[in-house]
Amino acid sequence: MKEKTAQDENKEVLPSKKKKWSLQHKKCKMCGATDAPHVSHGYCKNCYPKTKRGKKVRRDSIKKHWKKIKARAKEYNERPEVKEKIEQKRNWRYFGGNREKALERDNYQCSICGLTREENRKRHNRDLYVSHIKKGNNNLDNLITMCPICHFDGMVKKQFHREIGNRDQKTSSEG
Ligand SMILES: [Zn+2]
Ligand SMILES: [Zn+2]
Repeated sequence: MKEKTAQDENKEVLPSKKKKWSLQHKKCKMCGATDAPHVSHGYCKNCYPKTKRGKKVRRDSIKKHWKKIKARAKEYNERPEVKEKIEQKRNWRYFGGNREKALERDNYQCSICGLTREENRKRHNRDLYVSHIKKGNNNLDNLITMCPICHFDGMVKKQFHREIGNRDQKTSSEG
């Protein structure tokens, strides 16, 4: 076990044959380190995307492969587990986790015209909208289920909001 083979000696020699970071640059122009590999024009892998040239290269490559990127993103977003995750994130971000509850309370129907979830999916190829009655409040009684048509019909929406507002005022004054 003590004897060294010729191969081992070769291995020991190799580290001294250190590769230069770059032919023209000793260190990265931006971060001054040589930890990350050199990419181009004296910038390391981390810094190159931040330079003007790096950004342009990235933009050009995106332009060139746009169709491929888009197709891949679409494929990814279409996966059921990803779809669910996105939906969950949206749910927490905009509705404080009350979106499903609001849908359940409204029987999975548009509160204005009564369009059901399945019918809505068939007709508009998307889920029902859950809208806020007043801004900045994710409470269950501030959420309302709507189909896209009622959601975007400003008059209906405004009127409904007014009615809800009146009803709230009445109940609060009564109670
Ligand atoms: Zn750098
Ligand atoms: Zn509707």
